[in-house]
Amino acid sequence: MITPIIDENTIERLRAMINGASRFAITCHKSPDGDALGSSLALCHVLRRLGKDVTVVTPDMAPKSLEFIPGVRELVVYTKHEARARRVLSDAQLIFCLDYNSLARIDRLAELVEPLNTKRVLIDHHLDPEAAFDLAISFPEASSTCELVFRVLMQLGLLRYLDRHAASCLYVGMMTDTGGFAYSCDNPEFYEILASVMRRRFDRITLYNKAMNTFSADSLRLQGYAISEKMQLFPEQGAALIVLDKDELERFHYNRGDTETLVNKPLAIPEVYWSVFMREDADRIKVSCRSQGDFAVSDICARYFGGGGHQNAAGGEFVGTVDEAVALFHQVLADLFPQCDKAPDGDSHQPAMP
Ligand code: 5GP
Ligand code: MN
Repeated sequence: MITPIIDENTIERLRAMINGASRFAITCHKSPDGDALGSSLALCHVLRRLGKDVTVVTPDMAPKSLEFIPGVRELVVYTKHEARARRVLSDAQLIFCLDYNSLARIDRLAELVEPLNTKRVLIDHHLDPEAAFDLAISFPEASSTCELVFRVLMQLGLLRYLDRHAASCLYVGMMTDTGGFAYSCDNPEFYEILASVMRRRFDRITLYNKAMNTFSADSLRLQGYAISEKMQLFPEQGAALIVLDKDELERFHYNRGDTETLVNKPLAIPEVYWSVFMREDADRIKVSCRSQGDFAVSDICARYFGGGGHQNAAGGEFVGTVDEAVALFHQVLADLFPQCDKAPDGDSHQPAMP
């Protein structure tokens, strides 16, 4: 039994909004991941089967590693098709906001969305959604936005429109946001939803391999280098830190998505229960954090790196030099573990000399 967790009043309002509109725009967060793209494209497929005119607009490009998700090639990408994105959003009679909790997460797309009078429907599982949405379906305890899209469709009575393509999209999001069914999927209903999704008969193994275990040779070498040469361990604080600067990324011909799961790797070490990865991008340092158990990296990202996310998976950014970002990490250690020695473990590797 899959519990109808969304209240009936919300579902009836959503039903009226969908029935009353024919042109829809679906948006998701910048640097879209498997859940953002999977949930947006699944909803797009289903609404199109209802005869609606639907376009998914993303703030920036999907990574190459997710190009296999059905429908990715039809995305209207703001950084590539600005005029089209503007037109789609201003023509839309309803805007769905998927897998983000604040308009800041859609970057410059927010400048297009904010001035419109068009109603906005949020479907999301991040903590503390902004009050910027006309209808909010927000469940931080859900595994993924894909799980929530399934629940919304179920409660709207639209599951018969969930075809093979839409189901593969949901599968990808449920799989990637749980690290391959490893975390955030303790609710047994997660597997009931998965079972229902799987009944749509798609090629599950191919999707698994493409989403979870496909890397270019460069990416694999970069990850090997990062773990072998750049991982610093702080056993007293249960922490690991990996920092990759621009030169190192260039050396391995870095492409977006190449370091996607790297931050999880140090959590394999029993002593490590939180892990931080910093990557020097063109104009800022991208920070990714993962943890196990009650240790809330979302708080760290919100407090120190202007970001947020989930308790065990969060991110943010830092504007400044790599050294300053690392200094801030040491400040986090000092603030959170004032009783500990600041030095990293003697066995761990210091950053390699150039
Ligand atoms: P990742 O480390 O894979 O980029 O992100 C992990 C989680 O943190 C995702 O749920 C993502 O939505 C959230 N997140 C990542 N970067 C940011 C950020 O800059 N701001 C906020 N608010 N959340 C972020
Ligand atoms: Mn998500």
